[in-house]
Amino acid sequence: MPETSTDTPQAQPGETATGSITAIRPDSVTGTGVVPGIAYAPVVWKQARPQTLPHEPEVAQEGREAEAARLEAGVTAVAARLEQRSSHATGVASEVLAATATLARDRGWRKAALKLVKGGTPAPQAVDGAMSQFIATFEKLGGLMAERTTDLRDIRDRVVAQILGQPEPGVPTPDYPSVLFADDLAPADTAGLDPAVITALVTQLGGPTSHTAIIARQLAIPCIVAASKIATIPQGTNVLIDGTAGTVTLGVDEAQGRRLVEEDGRRRETVRSWRGPAKTSDGHDVELLANVQDGAGARKAAGSQARGVGLFRTELCFLNSPTEPTVQEQTAIYGEVFAAFGGRKVVVRTLDAGSDKPLKFAKMEHEENPALGVRGVRIGLRDLGLLTRQLDAIAAAGSTREQGADSQPWVMAPMIATVPEAARFAELARERGIKPGIMVEVPSVALLAPAFLAHVEFLSIGTNDLSQYTMAADRMSPHLATLTDPWQPAVLTLIGMTARAGRDVGKPVGVCGEAAADPLLACVLIGLGVTSLSMAAPAVSAVGAQLADVSFEQCQRAAQAALAATDSAAARDTARKVLHA
Ligand code: PEP
Ligand code: MG
Repeated sequence: MPETSTDTPQAQPGETATGSITAIRPDSVTGTGVVPGIAYAPVVWKQARPQTLPHEPEVAQEGREAEAARLEAGVTAVAARLEQRSSHATGVASEVLAATATLARDRGWRKAALKLVKGGTPAPQAVDGAMSQFIATFEKLGGLMAERTTDLRDIRDRVVAQILGQPEPGVPTPDYPSVLFADDLAPADTAGLDPAVITALVTQLGGPTSHTAIIARQLAIPCIVAASKIATIPQGTNVLIDGTAGTVTLGVDEAQGRRLVEEDGRRRETVRSWRGPAKTSDGHDVELLANVQDGAGARKAAGSQARGVGLFRTELCFLNSPTEPTVQEQTAIYGEVFAAFGGRKVVVRTLDAGSDKPLKFAKMEHEENPALGVRGVRIGLRDLGLLTRQLDAIAAAGSTREQGADSQPWVMAPMIATVPEAARFAELARERGIKPGIMVEVPSVALLAPAFLAHVEFLSIGTNDLSQYTMAADRMSPHLATLTDPWQPAVLTLIGMTARAGRDVGKPVGVCGEAAADPLLACVLIGLGVTSLSMAAPAVSAVGAQLADVSFEQCQRAAQAALAATDSAAARDTARKVLHA
């Protein structure tokens, strides 16, 4: 990784006295664009961690207590700083910073580090040693646990730097607008970003569903991930970032860069002022919905332009519950989400436990490949009581809701793979007066969509898992972002087949994975025949404004062009041309 310096940017080869570049032909690096927007500014690199710790001798017996205090002081200072930043941030950013502070104070790793200090290991080495053990264990567990190693490494580096009296590693805070480059960003790095100073983000690793992408979307910072070739671009180089195309362009004339940024500013203003209802320029209606995970999130989403909830991830309400919540407890939680949306559509997903979302009370056994194991509805159909108690709670919460156009609760099961599973789930839901649907996450459902539709009232395509299972690529892997990209023509083909099957029988087919939040891909999904798009509430305006700018026929042509492409980059490129984006 390039050396980091905090100097003001140096003049680049070919720069004229006024700072504009005339002699260099534009040259570009491509990654996966995850948040649209244009930025033009010098690069600032995330500070690299020192490769080796300075040698410190073994601590003599009489100095060990003071060494333990040195370690604890380092932890306290880092955690307090994160907490302070959390209190100044809002939304997901604030939650992420608070969660990182809690992890920094975690007794488990601190105990292991203090044990090393008791044995004579100096504090920095003790932090490094204890964290390395945890990182190795988490990596072996895979899935969400392996993702947590980014946080652990981040905390390790911050605490070690604090103990050594070095500047805090991680994101620099330049005093001029910059584009931040990094190999990867820890959640705490991303959450603390100031969009006024960091005008765009580009990482070598990470995928469309990574933390970096999710928070950049919330902060509306143009963002590109999986741009593996940026390593040779030094600090201070002026770059043009296009978060839609996923390109980092060098050698752009300064006047042109500024003009493009200004034009993009007008686009952002259109997004900010978009008020719906969602339709294409020629009046084709699109239902835009929100993804939520609890009452608070639903109340916030109700203030957006979302017409209802397309995905209520119920398992996220119970990640820390040691025991199964009672029917009454569940009813109260689901009731909050229903209440936030009055009589409007709310699609509740039954517990998607397992794999990256372990639930303590779901009694899961250790599996070598949890993403391919007993997860989602597979747990509910084995432990029928768990599923039926949840359906009872959804029905009870639904029975007290305000009457409206869509006040009957919609409920869908995750990880359905066979028609009999769907039929059984639908029967259990109908017995309770709930409208049954299923998620399309396993390719088998897309392939046999008409057979599934004979049993359920709607389908909702989970593109995060559908991409993972179609491309045989772990959605958590920062190295496989190109494969898990929902722009993969194979994934688009399955979506098209599913949408067609829905249209043939007049039943709705939505998309509720991250793909729905990508404004360009949203147009392609509508062109493929999808009837609703559900996404994080902050993404709704950008998708609505983009749809308003194109005709339905253009969406259909963009879809056909993307289907005919041979890879995800070509699909994105060809669709963008058709949509003039
Ligand atoms: C999906 O797989 O696209 C989806 C929406 O479900 P989750 O991301 O919760 O697995
Ligand atoms: Mg899923």
